[in-house]
Amino acid sequence: VSGHDLLIIGGGINGLGIAAEASARGLSVLLVEKGDLGGGTTAASSRLIHGGLRYLQYGELGLVRESLRERGILARTRPHLVRPIRLLIPTFRGLPPSPWLLAAGLTVYGLLAPDSLFPPPEARSVRGVREREPGLTGSGLTGGWLYSDGQVAFPERLCVELYREAVEGGAEVLTHTRVTALHLRNGRVRGADLRDALTGAQREAEASLVINAAGPWVDEVNRLLPVRPPDLIGGTWGTHVVLPSRPTGPQGPLYAAARKDGRPFFILPWDGRLLVGTTDVAFSGDPDRVRVQDWEIEYLLSETNRLFPECDYQAADVQFTTVGVRPLPVSRRRAGAITRRHFLVDHGRRHGIEGMASIVGGKLTTYRSLSEAAVDWAVRRLGARPAARPAPPAPQPPEELERAAAAEARKLALPAEAAPRLVALYGPRFTEVLARIGDLSEAGSALAPLEAEVLHAVEREAARTVDDIVRRRLMLLPPPVDVVTAVRRICAARGLDVR
Ligand SMILES: Cc1cc2nc3c(=O)[nH]c(=O)nc-3n(C[C@H](O)[C@H](O)[C@H](O)COP(=O)(O)OP(=O)(O)OC[C@H]3O[C@@H](n4cnc5c(N)ncnc54)[C@H](O)[C@@H]3O)c2cc1C
Repeated sequence: VSGHDLLIIGGGINGLGIAAEASARGLSVLLVEKGDLGGGTTAASSRLIHGGLRYLQYGELGLVRESLRERGILARTRPHLVRPIRLLIPTFRGLPPSPWLLAAGLTVYGLLAPDSLFPPPEARSVRGVREREPGLTGSGLTGGWLYSDGQVAFPERLCVELYREAVEGGAEVLTHTRVTALHLRNGRVRGADLRDALTGAQREAEASLVINAAGPWVDEVNRLLPVRPPDLIGGTWGTHVVLPSRPTGPQGPLYAAARKDGRPFFILPWDGRLLVGTTDVAFSGDPDRVRVQDWEIEYLLSETNRLFPECDYQAADVQFTTVGVRPLPVSRRRAGAITRRHFLVDHGRRHGIEGMASIVGGKLTTYRSLSEAAVDWAVRRLGARPAARPAPPAPQPPEELERAAAAEARKLALPAEAAPRLVALYGPRFTEVLARIGDLSEAGSALAPLEAEVLHAVEREAARTVDDIVRRRLMLLPPPVDVVTAVRRICAARGLDVR
């Protein structure tokens, strides 16, 4: 039995953001995640840090303004992870969006949060559009717009970074550990039963407060209370496909309306290939059971091929797919129209369960502001003296980091592409990995770079399975079989407890 100020359930972007913020503000924190860090919805997102241009049409000015502000903060404080991109919206005769609505929306978008990192939108003629996208269909093309947003190629790595910050602030974080029951005493939440999915070990945790940050699993977790609050989540699921880049295909990020149903979707250069999505389908049930449907793949491929007819993508070209459930609030609106705002539901006020709150809704983009609000709530409930907010991590431009990494990598005879990769994954902490590579090379390890990253993932980044290591630390998606075999061998040779 252990006593903490705050038990956080869920190690996605929101749970980890709250853990990092709470521990930096002096609370003692326990975070429990049934799978791996960032392995839930966070890994199934479109990987954008964006204001959400689409939400303007639903009048969500407050949400868009908050998101745009967060976009600027994240791009400045974590520039190796969150980078500005310039998206093209091509316009076609007879298809949404209508040109004047688009012009108005983009003008508002640009004015809501002027930001030097994200240049204002610009209209493009047909020729301008074709210059940027020579492979784009000319049929019905009337021109387009360029606008700016942010991309976080690896939100999984952002989760790992938040994990490191939480642990450095004193938090305890248990992965592959499920909350199996929540305890109440005299109407107050007291703690939880935990079960380690890999070892079967059980333990009890005591905490003064509980925040349920289980994303689309929020209602399932609340069902573990002896008194069950009403359901809060009315999710929608979304699928992406990852395709190889082709010379006749998109050259930059695009946001376009699907011909079939007029829904906007993204085609995003990502990790040297294309991430295409998403669908948006109402969902109720167990989020662990949601599966990509054949019609979704067909829909995303045919819409991509319609825009870039020479690409002719087929189902066999799909490298992998992702699917996740958006943890949206219960709503009668149709999937695309449900608000993307986040809410902290205080179960003391609402349902007579003191000391407990659930996070509903929210985006990757707004995890930081949500975390601040959640910790404000916790500090108030604890009656603690509000501690100062943590200073954001000292930002270093990625180019500067890459130069430093390249100089070090050369000394270790690593290939030229090692430096940008190390910076994209580890940011300023690339030095930790390079130091390990140096030590291992000196000791004569033939697999030094891979071995160093595996050891780093296990010892510093809470990886507990081979999948954790390759998919969410090394970001190999899908992981090549030979790397998986090599990682297994390294773990066995080193006697690491990795499943
Ligand atoms: C298709 C799609 C595209 C999206 N695109 C974007 C985008 O481009 N930009 C953006 O800003 N947002 C986007 N979002 C939204 C964003 O991904 C989510 O809002 C965000 O990831 C939610 O994070 P979370 O931490 O709340 O949930 P999650 O990441 O799902 O984390 C919750 C965690 O709780 C754990 N858990 C569940 N039950 C238990 C239990 N009993 N015990 C312990 N742990 C438990 C789960 O394993 C999970 O890891 C998208 C969402 C989807 C589905």
